[in-house]
Amino acid sequence: MATDNGMNPYEMALQQLEEAAGRLDLQPGVLDLLCKPKRELTVNFPVLMDDGRVRVFTGYRVHHSTVRGPSKGGIRFHPRVDLDEIRAMAMWMTWKCAVVNIPYGGAKGGVAVDPKELSLRELERLTRRYITEISILVSPEGDIPAPDVNTNPQIMAWIMDTYSMHKGYTTPAVVTGKPVEIGGSEGRLMATGRGVAYCVARALERRGIPIEGATVAIQGYGNVGSSTSMHLQEMGCRVIGVSDITGGVYDPAGLDARELRRYVSAHGGVAGFPGASSISNQELFQLDCDVLVPAALEGQINGTNANGVRARIIVEGANGPTTPEADRILQAKGVLVVPDILANAGGVIVSYFEWVQGLQFLFWSEAEINQRLEQTMGKACTEVWGMAEEKGVSLRLAALMLAVRRVHDATILRGIYP
Ligand code: NAD
Repeated sequence: MATDNGMNPYEMALQQLEEAAGRLDLQPGVLDLLCKPKRELTVNFPVLMDDGRVRVFTGYRVHHSTVRGPSKGGIRFHPRVDLDEIRAMAMWMTWKCAVVNIPYGGAKGGVAVDPKELSLRELERLTRRYITEISILVSPEGDIPAPDVNTNPQIMAWIMDTYSMHKGYTTPAVVTGKPVEIGGSEGRLMATGRGVAYCVARALERRGIPIEGATVAIQGYGNVGSSTSMHLQEMGCRVIGVSDITGGVYDPAGLDARELRRYVSAHGGVAGFPGASSISNQELFQLDCDVLVPAALEGQINGTNANGVRARIIVEGANGPTTPEADRILQAKGVLVVPDILANAGGVIVSYFEWVQGLQFLFWSEAEINQRLEQTMGKACTEVWGMAEEKGVSLRLAALMLAVRRVHDATILRGIYP
């Protein structure tokens, strides 16, 4: 989908890649390869609705790269999903897995649907049919889906079950983000937020701002926004503003992250949270705070609103929330931006742990997961910050340079077949 200010996310991803490539000495043919998805599948499929009608939906699965390992990436259910959005997300997944150095390539999938319009049974039928339609691309060895916008552990459970029914035996490693009861990993649900919070702490430290009492605004209160908010609150930060599709809430004394999560599950959104005043999504971006965490959709911080951002630090929970034009504006204003491919990698890191556990049928404790997650995030942060300082570039450019270099070098090592 085009972002809210009309920018095509795939164009955005290509611009970012070109900027990183411009600073690296890459073989031109390999760069041409990295600009394009390896393979893409569009499926049109029927779903039986509860009233007996048949509705046809369109879905996609794109593999951007499989050079460093099987492809990995979430599945999104959203009315504005289209091929270019999925292509962009698949490319970002390649860079994300490379920057945190886990042995995966990048993929993404999605269905153009508003799941809120479906009953639970319709959602289950849509999920099972979609995963069957894309099953020529999905497997534990080849391509492993995960949750993304509007998909959750229950949907991952249906995906695991559908794949397993076709195989004739239980195959937990085909999908991650499953419920713990059926082979999901401890710590996965909160992993993306844990990683985002880790990056917030690193960025605050760099800027000399104490964590205790640091003020935070968050856009999006789904999996990523709410888990980030709860971790930050535990670390001593004050979450003063949150917004989502239903509106926004503001309390300078700090919102209670857990209460807000309970409220959102009961009411479908943050609007009307008792004790807080209401603000718009655009006002949230203009809040005077230490950290802004966009955790909704791509293109939210763009040429039209970046000048109004008053946060000292932005940590990108969402994928692609900042357009290249906004990036330039923020850099000129001195705002420190921790890029998506680093900041929100906690989810795919623990997904990797979940996959490894599923392949072995051997499960780790939550403490072990969280410790390994911090280790992996910590190493990646040190490498990205180190590259940014050495080359005098932004964290986004440094992260992309590290990632693109790794994928490029792996391509050269493997050679061009035949
Ligand atoms: P989710 O469906 O759980 O939550 C999405 C949130 O965004 C909801 O609160 C929704 O109300 C809000 N939102 C949607 N449209 C909006 C709009 N126009 N304005 C304001 N708010 C809006 O999704 P999620 O899994 O939390 O994903 C959020 C972002 O994080 C996406 O960019 C996703 O790709 C990225 N991400 C997710 C994971 C993960 O593990 N789930 C991992 C890495 C990155």
